[in-house]
Amino acid sequence: IDGIRHAVMSRHDISERKRMEIRLHRSEEKFGLLVENSHDIIYTLNSSGVFIFVSPVWTRLLGHDIADVIGKSFREFIHPDDIPACEIFLESVIVTGERRSGIEYRIRNKSGEWCWHTTSAEPFRDRRGKIAGFYGIASDVSERRKFLEDLEQQATTDELTGVINRRHFIALAAVEVRRAIRLAHPLSFALIDIDHFKKINDTWGHAAGDRALVHFSRIYRKNIRDIDILSRFGGDEFVLLLPETDTAGACEVLERLRKILVENPLDLDGITVPLSVSIGVAFCGTSDGTDESLDAILLRADKALYRAKEEGRNRISVF
Ligand code: GH3
Ligand code: MG
Repeated sequence: IDGIRHAVMSRHDISERKRMEIRLHRSEEKFGLLVENSHDIIYTLNSSGVFIFVSPVWTRLLGHDIADVIGKSFREFIHPDDIPACEIFLESVIVTGERRSGIEYRIRNKSGEWCWHTTSAEPFRDRRGKIAGFYGIASDVSERRKFLEDLEQQATTDELTGVINRRHFIALAAVEVRRAIRLAHPLSFALIDIDHFKKINDTWGHAAGDRALVHFSRIYRKNIRDIDILSRFGGDEFVLLLPETDTAGACEVLERLRKILVENPLDLDGITVPLSVSIGVAFCGTSDGTDESLDAILLRADKALYRAKEEGRNRISVF
């Protein structure tokens, strides 16, 4: 102005913005620390299931470098059998638009072993409100799974022989009986009792008796089909359920098993102890077509077993 230079200045108070920046920085730092130090994996996936972010604990839990995870689909790490359930889980998050949790799945670690994990997932949206991906928190539940599996194992199997116990057998057999009757399929039951078992206990001691029970179970398990169910009913008495097997078929199988046991005596550290069993066979299904109970079938098998003992043992008797 009139040959003199002036400068036009304007001044804004940015204290509030600065304070906010500092607060934001601190809170980012805080959340960064939380994410980095969390024992759970924090991750984000895009809407096609590709990892956009995973927290460092992934490497500690599973071994892969973070760089090997980012940009890959979650499907590359999940057990093939669990992928459908995971896809349904993410689909349900998309459909409801809400946070979901509770799914458990196997995830491969760097050594190729499967670890059980659980996760929650929550959708996040793009500017137009469309779901663009998921935030998730995942944790390792392998130990809990193992504990539950052990508990289930203990509850369903006989500790000494490893075959299923009486209670579990009754539950499984009831299902088999209902199915056999509904579909009019053959189903046979055999009650198997070791002959003169008390003599083994009395002669060689209780531990030798235990070994005889284990020996018997091992031989039978090895020589039956996957669908057959062998159970220890108590003491030296076992029951074998043979699905899709009529009486003639059952007798054939049981005669083969009877012989195998006779041909494979128990070896007690050099002492050969011969073993034999008596077997009572009963067939599921009444001649008049009425439903029948598991108890009724087992009672018939028991009567047949009694006769096999009476007639001289080491034999099969059919009710
Ligand atoms: P039988 O030919 O008539 O069947 O004669 P047995 O001597 O086998 O008679 P029984 O079936 O009545 O004998 C069962 C014995 O099994 C009685 C019991 O002391 C013994 N026993 C029961 N449970 C166990 C076990 O877990 N271990 C051992 N070693 N013995 C057991
Ligand atoms: Mg016996």
